Amino acid sequence: MTFTSLDTVMIKQRWIPNRPHWSYSQLSQYLRCPLQYYFQRVVGLPIRFTPSGMALGSAVHHGLAVYHRDLQLGRQMSAHQVQSAFIEAWQAAENGRPMQFRGGESRNGLVEKGVDLLETYLKEPPPTDIVAVEEPMVVPVTTSNGEILEKPLVAIVDLLCRTQDELKVVEFKTSGRKMSENETDTSMQASCYVQAVQDRFDGPVSVRYTVLVKTKTPQVQHIETVRTDLDISRVGDVIHTVERAINAGAFYPIESAFNCSGCPFFKPCREWRGTSQTRALEHVGETTTEPNSC
Ligand code: SF4
Repeated sequence: MTFTSLDTVMIKQRWIPNRPHWSYSQLSQYLRCPLQYYFQRVVGLPIRFTPSGMALGSAVHHGLAVYHRDLQLGRQMSAHQVQSAFIEAWQAAENGRPMQFRGGESRNGLVEKGVDLLETYLKEPPPTDIVAVEEPMVVPVTTSNGEILEKPLVAIVDLLCRTQDELKVVEFKTSGRKMSENETDTSMQASCYVQAVQDRFDGPVSVRYTVLVKTKTPQVQHIETVRTDLDISRVGDVIHTVERAINAGAFYPIESAFNCSGCPFFKPCREWRGTSQTRALEHVGETTTEPNSC
């Protein structure tokens, strides 16, 4: 096993370079709900529980990373070893924050689901010519006007492989349903990854989303997408605009079942009155766990 610490369970969320930077997760959080971004990244409210879906996804990613790193070294782990890595990562998450389950979910049912998802993926032909596994790449952010922003973008791709004609970024998702072509073609995440890989390596880059679908009988979906220079400069324009919005203090809620179910800041959000940083700061020292039950 090449990972030496179970703290890497959430490597994508936790990896921080020495200088201020943008990541796709920061950008997407602001675009999804600016108030949630504010509570987490401006005020620094503690996150008191881990949504079960996030814990499952992180632990599955850990199992996949361990498997792919071993392949990169010319070895191949057994399904049992990969599943053990997943279970260790799940247990590490359990030993951290309390876990919040959705209605109808059980701890053992989710662990079984993760094991089944990995078993299904491991029946696929293993990836070859692996170039990188969860490797952070730092890339300057440039707008369509050629302006280079102060903060770079840090992208951590799940898997990067070399094919005969190009480099292929493989991004893994665990989801209750398959992704549509429209979703992958408009995903800013894919644009961020292509930008980062193009900056580091020569040649064309494409993206494959590999979705481990949490249906009763798990499925694996592969869906390909490409990006143009226009898509990539659009990322720079979006980041530039989001930076200006943040500097102007534009933090507002975007309420939806998708956003708010499992949001760790449900309580301070209910108390938010438009501008009140003071009310939010009252939650910094709280010790109780009061997750949203939506
Ligand atoms: S509860 Fe919903 S609207 Fe409020 S911060 Fe969380 S995601 Fe945003």
